[in-house]
Amino acid sequence: MARIAVIGAGMGAMAAAARLAVAGHRVAVYERTDTYGGAVRRFERDGFAFDTGPGLLTLPAVYRDLFVKTGKEPLEDVVELVQVDPAARHVFADGTRVSLPNASRAGVVAALDEALGAGAGQRWGDFLVRAREAWDRTRRPLLEEPLWPDWQVLAAREPYPAVPHKRLLRTRRAGTPAEIGSWELRDERLAALLESHVLGYGLDPRTAPASAAVLPYMEHAFGTWYVRGGIRELARAVYERCLRRRVEFSFGAEVTGILEKDGRAAGVELADGSVAEADHVVADVDPARLRALTEHPLDADGDVRADDPVLPRPGRLTALLALRGGRESGAVHRTVVHAPDAETELDFLASPGGDRPVCPTVTVLRPDDPALRPDEAHESVVVSAVVSAEAAWEDEGTVRSYTDFLLEAAERAVPGLRERLLWHEVRTPVHTEEETGARFGAVPAPALAAGRGRYLYPANTTRLPGLYRVGGWSHPGGGLPHAGMSGALVAGLIVEGPEFRGSQ
Ligand SMILES: Cc1cc2nc3c(=O)[nH]c(=O)nc-3n(C[C@H](O)[C@H](O)[C@H](O)COP(=O)(O)OP(=O)(O)OC[C@H]3O[C@@H](n4cnc5c(N)ncnc54)[C@H](O)[C@@H]3O)c2cc1C
Repeated sequence: MARIAVIGAGMGAMAAAARLAVAGHRVAVYERTDTYGGAVRRFERDGFAFDTGPGLLTLPAVYRDLFVKTGKEPLEDVVELVQVDPAARHVFADGTRVSLPNASRAGVVAALDEALGAGAGQRWGDFLVRAREAWDRTRRPLLEEPLWPDWQVLAAREPYPAVPHKRLLRTRRAGTPAEIGSWELRDERLAALLESHVLGYGLDPRTAPASAAVLPYMEHAFGTWYVRGGIRELARAVYERCLRRRVEFSFGAEVTGILEKDGRAAGVELADGSVAEADHVVADVDPARLRALTEHPLDADGDVRADDPVLPRPGRLTALLALRGGRESGAVHRTVVHAPDAETELDFLASPGGDRPVCPTVTVLRPDDPALRPDEAHESVVVSAVVSAEAAWEDEGTVRSYTDFLLEAAERAVPGLRERLLWHEVRTPVHTEEETGARFGAVPAPALAAGRGRYLYPANTTRLPGLYRVGGWSHPGGGLPHAGMSGALVAGLIVEGPEFRGSQ
């Protein structure tokens, strides 16, 4: 039995902790804040409750696997998973609206044909077939296996089978989601549909690799899910599973250093000056902050590094809305209100220092869940957008301008919103930084192939033997399922050693 110190109680860290405890290790988690879950939090006031982090779950199989492998009670026995149907309604810049059924190819094709014109559905359906190929080619290395030592192969090879596109005298293939939109989808609204999936993870569809096609594919193939009571319930269930497996948690316990002995990680040092010795240390910490915890180099030349962000650090701006009046029948759980000017939105995201803020693409979540409202005569709504984490979030004017954009967009999804608004609470990347410890409150995207390796994350092992990276800032990147998989990979690497080749 080894002693394992885990830094942080984020979803990736807790997934690793539960698995390691089941393998017979003594696991202690040190969390700097006063609760578990990291980004997966709940805000409560006056009988209203809101998820402040992720509001939906994709790839539930990752958490199903965690619960199967760490105890007899399956995930479905500890939380109620609900399919979100329609998966989303889209309100495009030109006013076109379409509701897309959950995980139904035929349904999506028919809905797009009806809303956008004959042929649109088929083009989207054909795109999903190609996206599936990219998914099949990268699912193992980018989700289920530790980062390949020869990761350059993943970085160099574009797995998305783009359709040859004749332009002037040249034949070209789409290398970005924006090019897939222009050359393969050939409809501004279909292009916006694809781009909103990519942007939703904080990636710029003009520069991300075409392999980002796996992001809409994941949702399409495995569905969009909600956890009754809010996604925070998933964090609670994982935390409770950890407790049942005798993982020990210390809250208000910031790790300020990683102990090293004989060239190995040997424990952690806490802000109160105390020390906890351990045989392995697992860190759910932003890369720059992790580097500050040890003098030992964690990467060498030729390793994937996470210090070169692909956008000026994407974050989230979220408005929690308490509304009087019940949810109307037929209200949709998720509405995506597309930006009136997508190009300007992306320009602003890429260089936030420039002009005045512009209206972003906004996601409106209206879960039909009695646990989130005081009674049937009220409704709680969460409105969010991807924003640059580095904009001036300390400045009230910036926050006000963006809040107005969010409310304006939300009005297109929730009838009579302004008259119904009792109060609202705005959360910026400053809150994310407080809750996750990530610099600037940035939110990591899932790892992607191609793109010269800029969309890969550092390996779960480090150059300091005994120190492992887990969570959204390490392989295979951010998001609930990916962070959960990083937990499985770290547990596998500790239990089976460096020869561990995958979790399935
Ligand atoms: C507003 C928001 C919206 C999001 N929306 C989505 C979404 O729609 N879909 C999706 O899949 N993902 C979404 N995400 C991302 C997703 O929540 C995360 O990728 C996922 O929860 C990853 O968790 P993690 O393991 O990286 O831990 P994190 O959530 O990053 O938590 C890290 C934990 O470690 C602790 N910690 C850090 N440093 C120390 C230290 N030195 N000592 C002790 N403790 C420390 C922190 O306090 C924190 O509790 C969103 C995130 C945010 C913030």
